[in-house]
Amino acid sequence: MKPNGAIPLDYQAEDSMLLVGGERIDALIERAGDTPLFVYDAAMLRARVARLRAAMPADLAIHYAVKANPFAPVVELMAGLVDGLDVASAGEMMLALGAGGAAEAMSFAGPGKRDRELVAAIRAGVTINLESAGEGDRALVIGERLGIVPRLAVRVNPGFDLRGSGMRMGGGAKPFGIDDTEAGALIRRLIAAGADWRGLHIFAGSQALDPSAIAEAQAATVALAARLADEADAVPPLVNLGGGFGIPYFPGEVPLDIERIGVELAQTLDNRPQILAQSRFAIELGRWLVGEAGVYLTRIVDRKTSHGQIFLVTDGGLHHQLAASGNFGTVVRRNYPVAVANRFGAPAVEEASVVGCLCTPLDRLADQVALPLSQNGDVIAMFMAGAYGASASPAAFLGHPPALEMLVGA
Ligand SMILES: *Cc1c(COP(=O)(O)O)cnc(C)c1O
Repeated sequence: MKPNGAIPLDYQAEDSMLLVGGERIDALIERAGDTPLFVYDAAMLRARVARLRAAMPADLAIHYAVKANPFAPVVELMAGLVDGLDVASAGEMMLALGAGGAAEAMSFAGPGKRDRELVAAIRAGVTINLESAGEGDRALVIGERLGIVPRLAVRVNPGFDLRGSGMRMGGGAKPFGIDDTEAGALIRRLIAAGADWRGLHIFAGSQALDPSAIAEAQAATVALAARLADEADAVPPLVNLGGGFGIPYFPGEVPLDIERIGVELAQTLDNRPQILAQSRFAIELGRWLVGEAGVYLTRIVDRKTSHGQIFLVTDGGLHHQLAASGNFGTVVRRNYPVAVANRFGAPAVEEASVVGCLCTPLDRLADQVALPLSQNGDVIAMFMAGAYGASASPAAFLGHPPALEMLVGA
């Protein structure tokens, strides 16, 4: 028997049928028409943003990183709840603008932006977070050609990284951002060339669950921003402190103490160097805002035994929920929270593995977990599926249909 992660406490059942957004999952599946299905709960998304706002300093801007969940109804809902959307491609930018995101509060980060993407961002008035000096030169030339002053921010590759981060985005040689030793000179050059310099973007890591590590990275980020402002002799209008707030996927992990992070960030900002006195500050979160609000529902097609082990073969798999299979940036495969959604709360009586319908041993959604007795037609719920699920999985692999998605309670 191998342990699985804890199901978020928000999830309840009615007559042993899991509820999402207050609705029974059998009714949701009927409305959607089929499984596999991702369901996102609007009330949980609203509650999440509200809790974050209450915990963070009042004047801190909260941005949503669209790549965590680009399902249009989710982006539309989030656009109305947060202060800005962060996008990572021109495709996401068009989606975010179409969902009602304001261009003035939108930033576009990501390496390898093509000229046509820079054109689209400059035309739309979206801030480009520059990933290199060369990209800055291209943006200036394009702005000149279009007769539009480009809004440019500088993404900095900090000399530190976020301790305990699941995915390291800073520290050492990186394709992201401009090394902190070069950023000051670039800012001077952008301002001298007449760009509308919007500030700094410093993203040190992702999926951290240690509040003191996040607080430490935020303090280091504010100090670095002040140093760069000094070097450039310019006040950054906005300092984007990045994110990195994680959620507990695996056994033994506990939810992040964001209230503590808020208290420490308030102190950091209250004591910030004078040169940043007029700067605004933002954090950008993806996973923490949307991850727990999503459930992936997949139906058992075949129940079989091999060498004494029970396999529940489902109509879903890693082509929809790659992360749960352990193949999206995890080193050691561990089990996400899982349940039999139509026997929710029933006692676990057997050890079984939940696998997908792909012809590869990688396609394992839950490995030797304790579950109630299940049969063909039952529905497996994989929790923590609201971030980096449908859009971060190889949907075309093996030719099965894409997962359906729905937002409930909007
Ligand atoms: C991916 C990304 C985020 C969101 O990260 P999460 O771990 O989902 O919060 C934020 N900012 C940038 C620049 C990113 O690339």
